Amino acid sequence: IFDEYTIKSLIRPVPDFPKPGVTFRDITPLYHSPRAMRMVADSLIQRYVESPVTHIGAIDARGFLLGAVLAYELNKPLVLLRKAGKLPADTLRESYATEYSETTLEMHRDALSGGEQVLLLDDLIATGGTFLAAARVVRQCGANVYEAAAIIDLPDLGGSRSMQDAGIPTFTLCAFA
Ligand code: 5GP
Repeated sequence: IFDEYTIKSLIRPVPDFPKPGVTFRDITPLYHSPRAMRMVADSLIQRYVESPVTHIGAIDARGFLLGAVLAYELNKPLVLLRKAGKLPADTLRESYATEYSETTLEMHRDALSGGEQVLLLDDLIATGGTFLAAARVVRQCGANVYEAAAIIDLPDLGGSRSMQDAGIPTFTLCAFA
């Protein structure tokens, strides 16, 4: 059974990281708890097991962790959205501004061919810039973003709102306001 209180208690606020004034939501204590990780994974598996999702799109780097678990359990192809310069073959790319800097996301051009229903996964939605760039890369291939899922939403930063405005449904397991 999913217990939001347990999940939230395992997300550690780290003040002034990576810069003064920012409170970083550190999810490594959650990774340290097999029971909590199983709760997170099971909630997501339950949500998508009978959905039209055809592919798991995992975002570099913390999205890879849940992405691998979901791809395995749902028996779907795993597609990587990586920071620039990591993928060796021909890529599609989109740049975006994060809370902290300017970043580029890349995906191998042959990862999707069009018509797929992609579930995007990451750990957290802040400004939404990362998910929005990932969605633009997926859409460049003619694939659809079925939903963007994360463990945490920071609604005050407006990311989930911007994503919904861009036609990307979002799903998160907890929020910090
Ligand atoms: P956004 O693009 O929505 O502004 O930022 C989300 C991205 O930055 C995610 O890839 C996430 O891993 C990372 N990120 C930004 N702030 C935090 C935070 O407070 N905690 C964690 N765990 N990741 C963050």
